[in-house]
Amino acid sequence: MALIVQKFGGTSVGSIDRMRNVARRALAAQRAGHRVVLVVSAMSGETNRLLALAHEVAKVPDAREMDAIATTGEQVSAALVAMAIQAEGGKARSLLGHQVKVHTDDAFTKARIKSIESAKIFETVARGEIAVVAGFQGIDAHGNVTTLGRGGSDTSAVAVAAAIGADECEIYTDVDGVYTTDPNICPSARKIDRISYEEMLELASLGAKVLQIRSVEIAMKYNVPIHVRSSFNDQPGTIVTKEDSTLEGVVVSGIAYDKGEARVHVVGVEDRPGVAAELFEKIAEKNISVDMIVQSATTEADRRAAITFTLAKTDLARAKSWIETIAKGVGAHEVRYDEDVVKVSIVGFGMRSHAGIAAKMFRTLANEGINIQAIATSEIRVSCLVAAKYTELAVRALHDAFGLQHA
Ligand code: ASP
Ligand code: MG
Repeated sequence: MALIVQKFGGTSVGSIDRMRNVARRALAAQRAGHRVVLVVSAMSGETNRLLALAHEVAKVPDAREMDAIATTGEQVSAALVAMAIQAEGGKARSLLGHQVKVHTDDAFTKARIKSIESAKIFETVARGEIAVVAGFQGIDAHGNVTTLGRGGSDTSAVAVAAAIGADECEIYTDVDGVYTTDPNICPSARKIDRISYEEMLELASLGAKVLQIRSVEIAMKYNVPIHVRSSFNDQPGTIVTKEDSTLEGVVVSGIAYDKGEARVHVVGVEDRPGVAAELFEKIAEKNISVDMIVQSATTEADRRAAITFTLAKTDLARAKSWIETIAKGVGAHEVRYDEDVVKVSIVGFGMRSHAGIAAKMFRTLANEGINIQAIATSEIRVSCLVAAKYTELAVRALHDAFGLQHA
């Protein structure tokens, strides 16, 4: 007999019919002898609808009130799913964030979980009931309602699983699992059976939107196995777990792309100690994170260099004018911007022990005539910035080159 957390995302609870399906699935697990805790999202589209209402009232709505509105979406689904279970002859009870006591900090709209009390959940399952926990929400130290950021129900589910020591956290969604790359642009993309937390983190932070990043961090910290699977069929999905021998031998696990960054090219900065420090300190002061950074070699003649970096496109508009000021301060002649770029990345554990993986990536892109504008690496990732028009070509070519179409 296991203790299982099942999380259902917005599409999985998107209609009354689908909620009945959730109820049947939870009851089947319970009848198989397991103790079952559900974590549910708002019905699909509901959070967007609620936030849009807030924006109709105020251009910049008060963050505390935004959370008070947004949490109602999950409250509705938790109660409806509990009723659906009862309608199927089962026993269930909904639990909101403040009833479970999901303690968070007070960063409204992007709060972080500090701790979760397990007593209410254990009392509920001990009575033979299925606990239906509203995802995405918590309370701060003053009892204010908070939310965990978009996609936060994943994090609620994994954190609940960690708090109650669940054997597994199943994340039910509208896709069959985690794919080697985006199947919408690469027809030979394949479902991954098992992947490590570290690789999943790299893929998630690179824009594979299956799991909220924070949920993977928590799963890794508390060693909670995650099973990402479809709520529309019974096929096994993807197990996200700690690195083990079954993952050995995979050199590259997945290919991600991210169109969310823009390139900034600062030309003709002075080549002296402290220039990069000055430039990036000032940028950091504005609370903007930069990602890839490349400094070109200096030409002997004028002792000037160029620095290229990327930042989130959403930060670019507000950053432009003062980036130019900062750049002038370090002697730059010119600042150029390019938003038509994509960051394509290969991710895999095997890179740590195999030579030549980066070279193979560069050669593959070169063979397609794709120019690389910037490169960044981590221990298990190589990323290349290329022109956005090459997104599909680059992803497909790399997927092929690293043999990801074969299990
Ligand atoms: N309902 C929230 C959102 O749409 C949380 C979630 O679904 O994970 O972001
Ligand atoms: Mg989600």
